[in-house]
Amino acid sequence: MTKLSFRSHAAKKFEEGSPLTDTFGRKHNYLRISLTERCNLRCTYCMPAEGIQLSPKEHIMTYEEIYTIAKKFVQMGVTKIRLTGGEPLVRKDAALILEKLASLPVQLTLTTNGVIVDRFIDHFKKCGIKTLNISLDSLHSHKNKEITRRSYFEKVYQNIILLVNEGFFVKVNCVLMKGFNDDEIIDFINLSKKLPIQVRFIEFMPFDGNRWNMDKLVSLEEILSKVRSSYKKEDIVKLEDAPNDTTKSYQIKGYQGNFAVISSVTNPFCDGCNRIRLTANGQIKNCLFSSKESDLLTPLRAGKSITPIIQKTVQSKLKIRNGMDTLDKFGQPSAHSNNRSMIAIGG
Ligand code: SF4
Repeated sequence: MTKLSFRSHAAKKFEEGSPLTDTFGRKHNYLRISLTERCNLRCTYCMPAEGIQLSPKEHIMTYEEIYTIAKKFVQMGVTKIRLTGGEPLVRKDAALILEKLASLPVQLTLTTNGVIVDRFIDHFKKCGIKTLNISLDSLHSHKNKEITRRSYFEKVYQNIILLVNEGFFVKVNCVLMKGFNDDEIIDFINLSKKLPIQVRFIEFMPFDGNRWNMDKLVSLEEILSKVRSSYKKEDIVKLEDAPNDTTKSYQIKGYQGNFAVISSVTNPFCDGCNRIRLTANGQIKNCLFSSKESDLLTPLRAGKSITPIIQKTVQSKLKIRNGMDTLDKFGQPSAHSNNRSMIAIGG
């Protein structure tokens, strides 16, 4: 290939790729926006007991800034936006933000702890939201209190039923921790017998202040082994997963809903990663485990273009879990202790 034809080949490849394609060919079309660092719960795996240092109010994106940044991402190829937090719905202008973002050509969804979703049902419908992820780590009130340091189990459970009755598809996110809730795996799966929901078991991951260690991890293999010992082999059906799915999904024959496992630790799904995260104070992260962030808010407020910063951040993304490509590296605290608490990342 001559130098000239090589150059035109490279230019053609660039034109073909989306501006959000990284060096491994992964197209990033999914933006997760954290609306706030605040939450009405205090989950132990999400934040340290003493709480976190909140960003000053003036450093948090306004709803106009969220919309402007989201619109830029949509112009660059984003087709799905998930709102996270903290708890996204505790933000006073949450309804307004939902409406603004619903005007963009994207699939809009959110992850919430479910405590106040009943106040937003009409808004969700108005904004075309079809699916919601709700966090629930135990089916026992006292255990929920232990993990969330608050007493909202009944409320959240009733809200899940309400959302299902109102026609939303609910995904129940359950972070499994050995010795705490791994004895509830089958009870959770049995929720999907009568309810058309997806129960999602998430492997416990390390973040600042959550005292992660490998011994607390309940792996994909352990979950499946419990499932195999509780149901007949022919009744456990493996469902097809979409290319960018983080889940490995299954269904028990005859059940209305299904269950899935998110195995970020023992079986990472980084090959198909299409996610970029925007924190409530306007920083982007190219990986959940990346402690490096790129500031979009300061240049945006200064009237500068944020496009090159977004592209550079995507281009610098590493192949697997920000470089933690083996379980050994995962076990080293230095590999992840500089990362934010989950509450400040937005999951
Ligand atoms: S660990 Fe990072 S690269 Fe892997 S799927 Fe999650 S965000 Fe993507």
